[in-house]
Amino acid sequence: MGLRAVVLGIPGVGKTTVVDKMVSGYKGAKLANFGTLMLETGVAMKLVKHRDEMRKLPVEKQRRLQRAAAARIAGMKEKLVVIDTHLFIRTPEGFWPGLPFEVVRAMKPTHLILIEATPEEIAARRASDTTRYRDAVTKETLAEELALARSFLTASSTLTGAPMAIVRNAQGKQDEVAEGLVKMLEGASR
Ligand code: AMP
Ligand code: MG
Repeated sequence: MGLRAVVLGIPGVGKTTVVDKMVSGYKGAKLANFGTLMLETGVAMKLVKHRDEMRKLPVEKQRRLQRAAAARIAGMKEKLVVIDTHLFIRTPEGFWPGLPFEVVRAMKPTHLILIEATPEEIAARRASDTTRYRDAVTKETLAEELALARSFLTASSTLTGAPMAIVRNAQGKQDEVAEGLVKMLEGASR
């Protein structure tokens, strides 16, 4: 049985950077960017053009894209699959789970990894990322989102039985964070 690490974190914690470094640091690892897989279906269905439009769609439309992405990830058989995704999505209808039961069950995670940063670091990263349409929020809201992520994380861990690791991604420490996670996963496959 291969390893399946689901890497989570609110937008702006530096998740994608850490995930990409993990995949290049582990021989035979495969990247599954959940948002990219959803976007491919969304574009094919002519629902959206950009990844940041998806969270504004009616939740029932987002759910179709979410299920399609989960099904594709469920079919990946590499030694390590690293999944870049979210615990919850801020939609106009409220916070919506990124890993509802049927989705997390299909993905069969062996490890749940939450990436965190301080509200200050997150605000700075969101402001400097010009490729994305990030929601502008206050530091208080970011602190609430960080707490909400931990609470959704415990639910996923309990549903799947996968251990949850919480990792702080301080400014400039992405390489160390990724290396530490690769070591942890190498230890798990011995
Ligand atoms: P990202 O590039 O990781 O910020 O993901 C882009 C978008 O993909 C997010 O803003 C969500 O709309 C969507 N997305 C990613 N993962 C999930 C998930 N597990 N469930 C629902 N939507 C997701
Ligand atoms: Mg990302």
